[in-house]
Amino acid sequence: MDERLRKEVANWLEFYREMGIGELDLHGSGSAIHHEATQPASPAHRPPATSHPDHDGARKQLEGQKTQPPLQTVHAAVREPMPKSLSLFESISSIPREKETLEEIRKDLGDCHRCRLSSGRKTIVFGQGNPHAEVVFVGEGPGADEDAQGLPFVGRAGQLLNRMIQLVGMKREEVYICNVVKCRPPGNRTPLPDEIEICSPFLLRQIRTIGPRLVCCLGAPAVRTVLGIKEGITKIRGQFYDFGDIKALPIFHPAYILRNPREEKLLREDFQKVCDFLKSSR
Ligand code: SF4
Repeated sequence: MDERLRKEVANWLEFYREMGIGELDLHGSGSAIHHEATQPASPAHRPPATSHPDHDGARKQLEGQKTQPPLQTVHAAVREPMPKSLSLFESISSIPREKETLEEIRKDLGDCHRCRLSSGRKTIVFGQGNPHAEVVFVGEGPGADEDAQGLPFVGRAGQLLNRMIQLVGMKREEVYICNVVKCRPPGNRTPLPDEIEICSPFLLRQIRTIGPRLVCCLGAPAVRTVLGIKEGITKIRGQFYDFGDIKALPIFHPAYILRNPREEKLLREDFQKVCDFLKSSR
């Protein structure tokens, strides 16, 4: 292997490692790797050819890439790119607070085609709930039911989330629910780093506008985006992270619990922590 190729492979492996991905789907993605060789050089824009244990359709994750618009066009359209290497929460404190409403943010998002996910979606799933919520739940992206209805967490995972919310004495209307990306990734794959980078400024603005006391990150992609933490969700779930006025709590994604029902007691424990936190900090 020549030196240039060796460096290229090393860069890719480092990129996967940073995303917390340890398993590569080499068989299903060869053509996509070839496609990505034509993309700009920044590692942050390279969609990984990987599978991810958090999502059922991970092996189909490269389906939507053929219709990707040029990245320069994409970035020119983003009003407020998230500073590279900062978590969403670090960005919250580094960017001056603007007075804007959720309606204004939605209007600014428009009929968004800033990333390739627009090509396969039926509807943009912006978010739903109390604009002054004390708790915001952030998932990774809409699934088929959410895409069809334009609302977050309305499928089976959403029903489990609703049950957990009720279990701790809250109503769904009292909280705010949204996702890291607002369009359904093809085959329900995990959102790719460049899609998250392009879409997450809108999530940042939603959180800033709502001003919650607690942000619950549902699953690893939400944890990585919001907190910039690369450890597995199993290790860090149920631990509070402090970002000034806002706390964050990594929690298992309800879809993971549906696939691993024996872990439901851990989900209940974490929701009890949400309840205790809200009571203690009032
Ligand atoms: S995922 Fe976000 S950035 Fe991409 S098209 Fe949808 S709304 Fe736009």
